Amino acid sequence: MVGNSSSNTAGKPIRCKAAIVRKPGEPLVIEEVIVAPPKQRKVRIKIICTSLCHSDLSFWKLTDPPAIYPRILGLEAVGIVESVGEGVHEVVEGDTVIPIFLADCGECTDCLSEKSNLCTKFPFSLSPWMEREETSRFTDINGETLYHFLSVSSFSEYTVVDIAHLTKIDPTIPPNRACLLSCGVSTGVGAAWKTAKVEAGTTVAIFGLGAIGLAVAEGARLCGAKRIIGVDVNQDKCEIGKKFGVTDFVNPGNCGDKTVSQIIMEMTGGGADYCFECVGMKSLVHEAYASCRKGWGKVVVLGVDHPQSMLTFNSFEVLHSGKSIMGSFFGGLKPKSDIRILEKRYMDKEIRLDEFVTHEVDFKDINKAFELMTEGKSLRCVIWMNK
Ligand code: NAD
Ligand code: ZN
Repeated sequence: MVGNSSSNTAGKPIRCKAAIVRKPGEPLVIEEVIVAPPKQRKVRIKIICTSLCHSDLSFWKLTDPPAIYPRILGLEAVGIVESVGEGVHEVVEGDTVIPIFLADCGECTDCLSEKSNLCTKFPFSLSPWMEREETSRFTDINGETLYHFLSVSSFSEYTVVDIAHLTKIDPTIPPNRACLLSCGVSTGVGAAWKTAKVEAGTTVAIFGLGAIGLAVAEGARLCGAKRIIGVDVNQDKCEIGKKFGVTDFVNPGNCGDKTVSQIIMEMTGGGADYCFECVGMKSLVHEAYASCRKGWGKVVVLGVDHPQSMLTFNSFEVLHSGKSIMGSFFGGLKPKSDIRILEKRYMDKEIRLDEFVTHEVDFKDINKAFELMTEGKSLRCVIWMNK
């Protein structure tokens, strides 16, 4: 039985185009695929546009498990509900929605708590299957299974997403802006606002000025931070950072025989109040830890390193420093409630999204988006499915 849907395609498989990673690091191939109808608590959506996040790039290159191929990547997007499966009452055909890689079931202890955004009913997983049913909704034209990615797989004209991973949004927000709320900008803004709870008048240091790091700067600015120090190996990020409120810039390549943390210690007279790691390198987490103030400094880890990467801290140093280190997934935001707040703040012209979109390409040129990010030339490249 099909849920509350009346479209011509409801209940039937849809044949459409998707960009497939067949082998790690090889250009994505646009192929015809079959997208099966949504089952229990699932929604099939027509993607309007999607944008490239560094997490796509990392998984595209991954050769060891949890890598699995052939796979449809993509996690930052906006779409329109095409049809809904049984038991879906929250959205109807035609609604504008954004998929989010973190679930919000609204029922478990964690979803009901204000303190967490890590759902227990549907915990974050790198599983290549759909939630609840452990199957794929994608096959290629030869009938071969194509794997899902982070419960979203938006590099396809149609995808199937669990209702726990969907948030309805205001359809008047331009799609090439709305998609940034699906991951990058929300994550960075949320990390300053919800995870670190940056206080007015404080100093923030951000390691890595990609879209995530610059969105942390945006969040820190909104929280009233006085000084925002950006650290990046790409010198171009010095000028770019200024547009996002970064007040000071440190290029690790220009520090002479000093470490970045020594420079930040000197600049701040004892360390930054908050340090954010937005690259995904354990060495930078250590550098961030060394750069924050003893007693109350907080390190927030946002970057995604290799799954086997280990952090090592001296126990005496931890004991004596009184610093905190915390992870931040999706900026600590609750997808179903906090996105609405960010959406309103964008409409009220408080939060910037436009400035994060540096490039836009057609779906057929999706590999260009990978090139631009690899070369450090883009913040967010929006990929239009059918312009
Ligand atoms: P990006 O590629 O746009 O930006 C990364 C930046 O880091 C670039 O400006 C690069 O020049 C800089 N950099 C690289 N090596 C550096 C070094 N050694 N020192 C200082 N700067 C360095 O990537 P992005 O999309 O902004 O993503 C950043 C990280 O956040 C990635 O690891 C991504 O997987 C992760 N991420 C996390 C979440 C989450 O929920 N925590 C969500 C999305 C993305
Ligand atoms: Zn939950």
